[in-house]
Amino acid sequence: MIRFEYHQPHSLDETIALLTQYGNEAALLAGGTALLIDMRHGERSPGHVISLWEVPGLAGFRVNRGFHVGALTTISDLAGTAAGHPPLRALVDSAWLFGGWQVRNMCTVGGNICKASPGADMVPPLLCLDAELRLAAPDPFRIASTVALTLLPEPPSSYTPTASVLPSAFSAREYPN
Ligand SMILES: Cc1cc2nc3c(=O)[nH]c(=O)nc-3n(C[C@H](O)[C@H](O)[C@H](O)COP(=O)(O)OP(=O)(O)OC[C@H]3O[C@@H](n4cnc5c(N)ncnc54)[C@H](O)[C@@H]3O)c2cc1C
Repeated sequence: MIRFEYHQPHSLDETIALLTQYGNEAALLAGGTALLIDMRHGERSPGHVISLWEVPGLAGFRVNRGFHVGALTTISDLAGTAAGHPPLRALVDSAWLFGGWQVRNMCTVGGNICKASPGADMVPPLLCLDAELRLAAPDPFRIASTVALTLLPEPPSSYTPTASVLPSAFSAREYPN
């Protein structure tokens, strides 16, 4: 049996405090489609699983001098809400090609980036858009380029407690049509 303590923080500050407290013992839970499988296969065994689902403001797509996608936005939400924006065509196409309905309904953009699999479908279009990642930790709202995160030797999620909660998974400037 896999044993871990489950945490459900209600704010970003609380989330970061838990990450800082439990360090390498902690794992953030978004859609769980990678984390829970890794745990079941014995590839990861965090003592503390921290759910992001009660943290307000992490999900959703909005347009405000650029495109902003919350880390907790599911792939199907992104495919639907970003569809009307021609500059995001490659990202929307990638979202529609991603897994099947069940997977798209659970997987999040932040989870796809932070799992950092070489086959992560959201990363190439984000690279092409020159997207910026806004990190909540360790430096609040530090902005990193997708390129920088992609070139890290390990997935960003393994850098705990500096593991990043991404309030805005990316914000790309608006391109002329
Ligand atoms: C049946 C199936 C089909 C799949 N098909 C595809 C596919 O077509 N294309 C593809 O790219 N992938 C696919 N995947 C792979 C995988 O599930 C994705 O990478 C997924 O996007 C992970 O997102 P999640 O929200 O489920 O992340 P989780 O499993 O919750 O987390 C993944 C990792 O990221 C960390 N993390 C999550 N959110 C954050 C955050 N905000 N800040 C910091 N760290 C965070 C977690 O701690 C964990 O280490 C598939 C998986 C399954 C099971």
